[in-house]
Amino acid sequence: MGSLDPNSDHSSQFKPLDPEEFRKQGHQMVDFIADYYQKIEKYPVLTQVEPGYLRTRLPESAPYGPEPIETILKDIENDIVPGMTHWLSPNFFAFFPATVSTAAFLGEMLCTCFNSVGFNWLASPAATELEMVVMDWLANLLKLPKTFMFSGSGGGVIQNTTSESLLVTLIAARDHVLDRIGTDNMCKLVVYGSDQTHSTFTKACKIAGICPPNIRSIPATIDTGFSLSPALLRKVVGADVAAGLVPLYLCATVGTTSTTAVDPLTALADVANEYGIWVHVDAAYGGSACICPEFRHYLNGIERVNSLSLSPHKWLLSYLDCSCLWVKNPSRLVKALGTNPEYLRSKLSGSDSVVDYKDWQVGTGRRFKSLRLWLVLRSYGVTNLQSHIRSDVRMAKMFEGLVKSDPRFEIMAPSRFALVCFRLNPYLGSGSCYTETLNRKLLEWINSTGRVYMTHTVVCGVYMLRFAVGATLTEERHVFAAWKLIQAGADALLNDI
Ligand SMILES: *Cc1c(COP(=O)(O)O)cnc(C)c1O
Repeated sequence: MGSLDPNSDHSSQFKPLDPEEFRKQGHQMVDFIADYYQKIEKYPVLTQVEPGYLRTRLPESAPYGPEPIETILKDIENDIVPGMTHWLSPNFFAFFPATVSTAAFLGEMLCTCFNSVGFNWLASPAATELEMVVMDWLANLLKLPKTFMFSGSGGGVIQNTTSESLLVTLIAARDHVLDRIGTDNMCKLVVYGSDQTHSTFTKACKIAGICPPNIRSIPATIDTGFSLSPALLRKVVGADVAAGLVPLYLCATVGTTSTTAVDPLTALADVANEYGIWVHVDAAYGGSACICPEFRHYLNGIERVNSLSLSPHKWLLSYLDCSCLWVKNPSRLVKALGTNPEYLRSKLSGSDSVVDYKDWQVGTGRRFKSLRLWLVLRSYGVTNLQSHIRSDVRMAKMFEGLVKSDPRFEIMAPSRFALVCFRLNPYLGSGSCYTETLNRKLLEWINSTGRVYMTHTVVCGVYMLRFAVGATLTEERHVFAAWKLIQAGADALLNDI
C-alpha cells in the first residue's frame, strides 16, 4: 500500500517549518531587510499612492499552489514598499519617531522563535521572570522608587500600547472604589486629564464604562506651557465632590503629544492624594529621556503616584509594540483582572510565589517581549542609550536654532525633548486665519515633495508645525536638509503671494 511506504508520497505531508528551508529563506529575508535599511532614503518618506491602490495590483484570490519566496519578495518591492510611509526614513519628522535597533530586532526574532504564549508562570517561567527582571532594570535606570519594583512592593509589566496601560490601571482603580461605594454608583465616578492628554485616554475611559459626561478635560493654557494647572484641577475636583460625584483617576502626562508639555507631578499629586484619586503618569514619549540624569527631574513626584507607563517603542529603540507599565499596587490589578479557569490551572497558579501576567493585562496569551528590551539594554548598555537620547535632543536644539535664525519663523512651545513646535509668521500682526492657511500650505508643500515628512497640531486654537527629531537613522545632515526644504517652501509660498 502506497500510504505505508514512507517514500511514496511526500507531498501529502505538509511541513510548514523546515529548519534547513528556514535557514535559506531567512538569509534572503535578512538580506532584503538590510538592503531596505540601506536604501531607505531613496524612497519618498510619505507615500504618494492613492486609496485602494493595492487591490488593483494583487490577484483576486490567494494562489492555489505554493509560490517561492523570491516571487513574494519581488512583489513586496514592487507593490508593498511603494505604499509604505517610511517610519524608519531619516527624513521622517512626523508624530513621534518609532525608534528601532539591531539589538531589538534580534530580540524580536528570538521572541518569535520561541512563540511562547506565557499567560502564567508555568507556561514559560523564563518569559515571566525575564520580564520581571527587565522591568526592575528599567525602573532602576529611571530611578523609580522601590515601591514600583518587584524588589520592593510593586512591579512592572509589558503592555502592547499606552492605551492598554491606561485601561488596566483605570479598571484597577475603578474596581477598588466600587468595592467601597457599590456598583450602583458607577455613574458617579469622575476621571481627569488636561485637554492635552492623549486621545486614547478618553477611549480607555469609555471602554472601562466611565460615563462620558464624567470625563473631565481641563484646558491647559499658554501660561502654564500647555501643562495641567494644579489649581484648576483642585477647582474642578472640588466642584465634583460638592455635586456628590466621586473623583477616581487622573492621567498626568510627562511629554504631551502635541508639544511635549510636562504636567507638574508633585503639585498634582498633592491634590489627588487629598481626594484619594489614582494618579497615572503617561510618559509614553518623554519618559525615555529620564534615563539621563539631566532629564530625570521631569519625574519628580513620581513616588506620590500610583502608576507610570512609558513606551520604549517610541524613544528607546525597541520596535512596536512595547509599553512598560509600573504599578505600586499589583494586587489591585490582579483583583480586577485576575481569572482562574480550570483549564489554565497549575499547582502554582494563584499562589503568591509566582506572577501570572495574564492577570495584569487585557488578553490571556502574551508574547515573550522582554527579550527585545533585554537585548537592547545589554547590547548597548546605559551609556549608549543615554547618548542616543542626548544626540536626538542636540539635533532638535540645532533645528530650533535654525528656526530662530530666520525672522520669518517663530518657536511656538518650549522645546524640552526632541520636538520643535514652530510656525511661519512673516508679517507679525496679520490675522491668525491667514497665518494658519499659510502654514497649512507650507506643510502640504513640504510633504508633497516626499523628501521630508512632518505633521502639525493645534493647541489653544493655534495651528503649529511639529518637527520631531529622532528617527533612528537621522543624522545632522538630514536635519539641515529638512530646514533648507522648509525655507525653500516658505520662499515659494511668499513669492507666490
Ligand atoms: C504616543 C503617545 C501615546 C500613544 O502611545 P502608544 O504607546 O504608542 O499607544 C500616549 N500618550 C502619549 C503622551 C503619547 O505621546
